[in-house]
Amino acid sequence: MAAPSGGRYSENIPSMESFPFPLPGKASGEGLGKDQAENTHSKKKPCRACSDFKSWMKVQKKQASSVSEQETQAAGDVEKQVECPLDRQELGRSSWSVLHTMAAYYPDTPTTTQKQEMSQFINLFSKFFPCEECAEDLRARLKSNQPDTSSRHNFSQWLCQLHNGINVRLGKPEFDCTQVDERWRDGWKDGSCD
Ligand code: FAD
Repeated sequence: MAAPSGGRYSENIPSMESFPFPLPGKASGEGLGKDQAENTHSKKKPCRACSDFKSWMKVQKKQASSVSEQETQAAGDVEKQVECPLDRQELGRSSWSVLHTMAAYYPDTPTTTQKQEMSQFINLFSKFFPCEECAEDLRARLKSNQPDTSSRHNFSQWLCQLHNGINVRLGKPEFDCTQVDERWRDGWKDGSCD
């Protein structure tokens, strides 16, 4: 399958250089061995987690014959109803759910080992998260802002602030971190989660 050149899809996929392992179906074969590069260009579908759903659909649209926007959306809707590999937004939402829930259930008074291991987990997560741009951004943030794993409260707040930093970068509203336990552990005070 030929990789598209230029356009939003390739803009969303920065160079491979800093990513620790080749992602399947990258738009560029740079940095890959011959076999991998051939695989990338000829057989594999574009990496959905590298891109948002709309961009991914655009690539599909270019590769297929001309289909109308409506048909593309309809195809997307069908795609969403079945169980499919995650696009960037789905991956992000699911990952935040895991991370915030882990923070919500982290010990109030963790052992020294637990503190170290949770910190290692976040740092390792930033190396393996399969959205290149996201992982690079997270690693850059961790350079000056290591996880505060000293307690459940502090870790939940650290993560909330980290997420807010990314929300701001993406133009999304900031979350009120005083509500992080309601959102991720206790449910809303109005009982809507009961
Ligand atoms: P999400 O941001 O996924 O949030 C899910 C839910 O969490 C929200 O509905 C809200 O209830 C709650 N929430 C929101 N903010 C907070 C907070 N501060 N604290 C606690 N709870 C909160 N996407 C990119 O395009 N570029 C990136 O560089 C990028 N980096 C990412 C880095 C990481 C570590 C992760 C996990 C994801 C990243 N993403 C990135 C994905 C992005 O953050 C979103 O997950 C995605 O855009 C979907 O957004 P959403 O609006 O559904 O809500």
